[in-house]
Amino acid sequence: MSILILAEHDNSTLAVATAKAVAAAQKIGGDIDVLVAGSGCGQVAEAAAKLDGVAKVLVSDADAYAHQLAEPVSELLVHLAGGYSHIVAAATTSGKNVMPRVAALLDVMQVSDITAVLSDKRFERPVYAGAAIQTVEATADKVVVTVRASAFDAVGDGGSAPLEAVDFAPSAPKVKFVSRDTPVSAGPELANARIVVSGGRALGSAEKFNEIIKPLADKLGAAMGASRAAVDAGYAPNDWQVGQTGKVVAPDLYIAVGISGAIQHLAGMKNSKVIVAIDKDPEAPIFGVADYGLVGDLFELVPELTDAL
Ligand code: FAD
Repeated sequence: MSILILAEHDNSTLAVATAKAVAAAQKIGGDIDVLVAGSGCGQVAEAAAKLDGVAKVLVSDADAYAHQLAEPVSELLVHLAGGYSHIVAAATTSGKNVMPRVAALLDVMQVSDITAVLSDKRFERPVYAGAAIQTVEATADKVVVTVRASAFDAVGDGGSAPLEAVDFAPSAPKVKFVSRDTPVSAGPELANARIVVSGGRALGSAEKFNEIIKPLADKLGAAMGASRAAVDAGYAPNDWQVGQTGKVVAPDLYIAVGISGAIQHLAGMKNSKVIVAIDKDPEAPIFGVADYGLVGDLFELVPELTDAL
């Protein structure tokens, strides 16, 4: 068996999600190669070469991959797929964009968002917003898999795999990169943060997020998150949303402030190691998954907690 993992990066930094995809690949078994497709991405290739368990890093450094558009990257993966039994990527926005194209071009079914590896062809994945776990078995010879990164611990970086250049020119592009509008965040990245402080509808405004949630998050060196109700109301930006239709996180500590704990929110955070809930309603479902619960008015309790810290 041989596995090819698509590296996730921004041409300068390798995302932690790739180290987690390597951990999933180790459970599948076999040789693990990583593909770094980008432009001026040498630093990323070096970082990928250090990941434990990686046999070889394939590097496609060309203008065509500068923005890692799904079309050229999927063509490249299909070009390389002949030598591999498994093609793997993290189930991130980018992985979810590229891999279905790879599966379609290879005419196989994709196994999406796996949370456990049972054998080289059998996997577990959550369905119904995490309310049930499905066991699926791939029947094709070539298996295309996306990995829920929060379900796997990243491998270490003590390796020294060789780099190998791949020279492949994708066909003339049908799409063109126009611009990227990336929100600037001062704190750690939500998906990989060790601590997350999330606010819900109860905050009532963006100003209150700033006044109540931010100081606590700053004190803890935490990333900020939000429920969908808070995002829809414009209290928090879209990319802070945690849940079924937002980000799935599993930090060491998740603090939910004024979030009732709807199933769609729980789908994005219930695997956090320690969950703290602050809500004025003792019957709020969030307390059903919380390790520690604080019942009361968040506008009093959170500033008190922040001061005490
Ligand atoms: P509410 O449910 O209104 O809860 C507010 C909480 O604040 C209550 O528990 C209340 O007791 C408490 N509160 C009020 N005032 C105070 C106070 N002063 N002090 C302390 N506590 C107070 N939701 C997500 O979060 N993420 C998703 O990805 C997501 N995806 C969805 C997908 C679909 C298809 C659907 C249908 C829904 C989805 N939702 C998602 C929405 C979800 O169902 C809930 O509506 C949402 O999570 C509720 O957000 P909330 O907990 O902030 O608000």
